[in-house]
Amino acid sequence: MFMEVPRGADLLKYQRVVIDQETCISCGACVAVCPVSALELAEDNFKSTLLWDKCIDDFSCIGVCPVNAIHKTSEAPQELKARNSWYRFSRELSDDEKRFFEEWRKKYGVTGNPK
Ligand code: SF4
Repeated sequence: MFMEVPRGADLLKYQRVVIDQETCISCGACVAVCPVSALELAEDNFKSTLLWDKCIDDFSCIGVCPVNAIHKTSEAPQELKARNSWYRFSRELSDDEKRFFEEWRKKYGVTGNPK
C-alpha cells in the first residue's frame, strides 16, 4: 500500500522512534519492514538511522528488532534521546519544517543532534 510521506505541518503529528546505536547489531530487519523507508543503515557504521522527516509512527520496526534497540520517542530513556546521530533528515527542510522539528525536539526532550 502506498503511504504518504509527511510534509509541512504534518511533520509535527508524529512522535517517531529513537534508535540505540550502541545496541543495534546492523541486522537490517527494521529497514526491511518500514513501509515508508524511514530507516537506513548508515554508510559509515552500518547502524540503523532514522530519517526523521519520513517517519509516520508505523512502529513495525520496534517489534522486529532482535535486540530491542528501537523505542517510541515518548518511551525512550532520556539517555538515548540525548545521544547524537541516531537520526538525520532525508532532504533539506524548509524554514517552517525546521521550526516544527525544533518543536518536536522540545516536546519529546530530544537533545541529541542529527548526523
Ligand atoms: S532491527 Fe534493531 S538491530 Fe536490526 S538494524 Fe534495526 S535497530 Fe539495528
